Amino acid sequence: MTALRIDGTAMAQSLIAEVRDKANRLGRPPGLAVILVGDDPASHVYVRSKLKRAAEVGFENRIARFSTDVTEAEILSQVAAFNAAADIDGILVQLPLPDQVNTLRVMAAIDPDKDVDGLHALNAGKVSQGGVNALTPCTPLGCMMLIKSVAPDLTGMNAVVLGSSNIVGKPMAALLLAERATVTVAHIHTRDTPFLCRGADILVTAVGKPELVRADWVKPRAIVIDVGINRVATADGGSRLVGDVAFDEVSKVAGAITPVPGGVGPMTIACLMLNTLMAAQARQGVTTPS
Ligand code: NAD
Repeated sequence: MTALRIDGTAMAQSLIAEVRDKANRLGRPPGLAVILVGDDPASHVYVRSKLKRAAEVGFENRIARFSTDVTEAEILSQVAAFNAAADIDGILVQLPLPDQVNTLRVMAAIDPDKDVDGLHALNAGKVSQGGVNALTPCTPLGCMMLIKSVAPDLTGMNAVVLGSSNIVGKPMAALLLAERATVTVAHIHTRDTPFLCRGADILVTAVGKPELVRADWVKPRAIVIDVGINRVATADGGSRLVGDVAFDEVSKVAGAITPVPGGVGPMTIACLMLNTLMAAQARQGVTTPS
């Protein structure tokens, strides 16, 4: 039996269409501002995709670029300028930032109402308290939509999250807990991670290790959500993207699985658009999503 392949690209397209429609009905188009530091190729690719999508849904985009030797004060001053800009509803600081810039201080400086990546402590705290009026980090939000497309009620299910970062693992665990799952978070220091995974009805991997999760880690019929994005070399001298899950062999055991690419990635970007729309609606006094 082969697992159901959860199509993140299709789900993202329909979410994007919904966002575009609602954005068109606002008095002023939502504005998304991005701060991009340095010349890391992956960060540039991610920012390009985000801005392209934002333009497609009718948002106004602004980008502030800085070289790798930027000071923290310069980033904080740019954040303050975007906080004050009336036409900007969402601010995204592309991570990672260089070592001389304290990421948590930058996140703390973003207006929580414009924090469309959901990384300000106020939004993180709201998410951990059940998510009311929170801007939720985009990747876990997208993962939850993917999970709920195949399992609408998670009550009492065992969920294991591999990875405990502030941007994926921790908020993912909070969202699963809010859906009444029993949640275990594993990380680099966890003992016998395969054993924990074998008890999971829902397994979310956000580690960054190519094909770490093998078929014998996975409970039959489990839902497997692969957040990992890893570039690996191919025999012909090129490269390809793989997730944290050995897709082919795990597909023979799991009940449902997301591919890489085409799973979590497109949903992350679609959820960034959704968060920006929600921030714009709130700032324009649209209290209930129309
Ligand atoms: P991170 O480096 O901040 O965190 C990695 C986590 O994995 C840490 O908690 C670490 O303790 C844990 N870990 C490392 N080795 C482990 C192991 N052997 N077993 C269990 N846990 C282990 O990374 P991140 O920012 O959370 O991203 C994780 C992965 O997800 C990366 O591949 C990243 O590229 C990808 N990612 C994808 C999207 C997307 O849209 N698809 C978004 C964000 C991140």
